[in-house]
Amino acid sequence: VTKPFLPLMRAHRFGAPAPTGPTPFAHPRFAVALSGLVQVQADARTVLAQGAAGAGGLAGDPGDGRVIATTGLDRIIAFDASAGRLRAQAGMSLLDAQGFLAERGHFLPVCPPWGPTTLGGAVAVDAHAANHEANGTFGAFVRALRLHRSDRPAVVIGPTQDPDLFAATIGGLGLTGVIEWVEVETRPIRSSMMDWEATPFRDAAEFLNLMAEGADWVHRRAWFDPRMPGRGRFERFRHAQDGPREARAPQPLIRLGQPVSRGLTNGALAGLVTGLMQRRGAGARMRDYASVFFPFEDSVEGLAHLFGKRGALTYQCVLPPKAAGAEQITAFLNEVKRLVDGPTMVGAVAFGTRVSPALLSFPKEGLCLTVRTRAGARAAEGFARLDGLVLEAGGKINPAADARASAVLCQAALPLWREAAAWRDPSISSALALLMEAP
Ligand SMILES: Cc1cc2nc3c(=O)[nH]c(=O)nc-3n(C[C@H](O)[C@H](O)[C@H](O)COP(=O)(O)OP(=O)(O)OC[C@H]3O[C@@H](n4cnc5c(N)ncnc54)[C@H](O)[C@@H]3O)c2cc1C
Repeated sequence: VTKPFLPLMRAHRFGAPAPTGPTPFAHPRFAVALSGLVQVQADARTVLAQGAAGAGGLAGDPGDGRVIATTGLDRIIAFDASAGRLRAQAGMSLLDAQGFLAERGHFLPVCPPWGPTTLGGAVAVDAHAANHEANGTFGAFVRALRLHRSDRPAVVIGPTQDPDLFAATIGGLGLTGVIEWVEVETRPIRSSMMDWEATPFRDAAEFLNLMAEGADWVHRRAWFDPRMPGRGRFERFRHAQDGPREARAPQPLIRLGQPVSRGLTNGALAGLVTGLMQRRGAGARMRDYASVFFPFEDSVEGLAHLFGKRGALTYQCVLPPKAAGAEQITAFLNEVKRLVDGPTMVGAVAFGTRVSPALLSFPKEGLCLTVRTRAGARAAEGFARLDGLVLEAGGKINPAADARASAVLCQAALPLWREAAAWRDPSISSALALLMEAP
């Protein structure tokens, strides 16, 4: 029932250190294997579910434990078009789920911009996207899920079925059990094409003006130039009223099959991905959903390879509204410029006032800024400087995305950790859990 980890998965790894040990991975193809796998092993090692390994932070790092890779569990179980409910196995990617749904005139209500993200991973991190102001997080649309735990038979939970365990599981960073399948409420669409607009901006004040207008555009985000603080491009998009309803795939310009050596990815290529994402020009037009929702794969296939053998480090934070003015944003971007030492992506989305039902959900009202850059001392030092700015502003970091944050930063970001920890599965652990619970 198990087989070795697939090389394809490594291509998607984003910075989380590889687990060690003689047989670190289980990669089941059939859900029946899960209950047996979610047990402390004979050698007393704990386990942790893994999706596409995209989160890249402490939450996806099994520490001394073993990984249960879930991408082999990638099948559709049921789709009820009248209710708009999709039930699919947790290892199905968002790209595949969106393709299935698009042909049937539906769409996932929240879709982070990285196609390999699995449904289980999107639930476990309570994923957000460019439409947070309008729709909130992924977990708010989950109607049921099946959870495998070591201390009881598999259980189906939802907002009204075992709601406390459910609230600890959505956004629960994998610690309450292994999710076998997810039932999610989808949105009807008339077309899988998107009305899309892109506008360049020259400084943080212009960026803020663009973010403030056009609230009827459901999806709104910006990409900053990592080397020119304040410069960037604002994008907004929504489903078109006319056009085909069909599955589409991103069309990358570059395909990377193995890690690019450090010499080839020096600071001169800092803005490569941002530049490739901008090749579609500015202005307004219709685009297919895959190129808009999955801009990274639409630029580079095997994006993680671009960051070299050591992978990428991610920094994600939210600044509260009163501390997200032009001055603070510019200060943040100046620090980003200092840390650039290779390909670097800097994105921004606004978080609205919707409160997630998930106990450990990251989003809260404000401006979410994300930096992805090559792992190394320069990034770590730069991230430490960003910590100072974020804490001073009353913001917080996202421990799910962060592979180097301290216990103090993680505790500040996860105030309901203790409540959620009451639902921990004793067989499951992660580097984040070890850090949070260290004496
Ligand atoms: C380029 C890029 C851009 C991104 N942008 C965003 C963004 O805008 N918004 C956003 O929210 N995220 C974003 N992400 C993160 C992305 O959505 C992650 O991939 C996602 O957080 C988790 O999905 P995953 O399948 O990769 O899970 P993994 O990273 O493998 O795991 C993440 C967590 O989920 C748990 N988990 C995974 N599967 C299961 C399961 N079946 N049962 C129980 N627990 C499970 C893991 O234990 C871990 O704690 C981005 C990632 C990349 C690489």
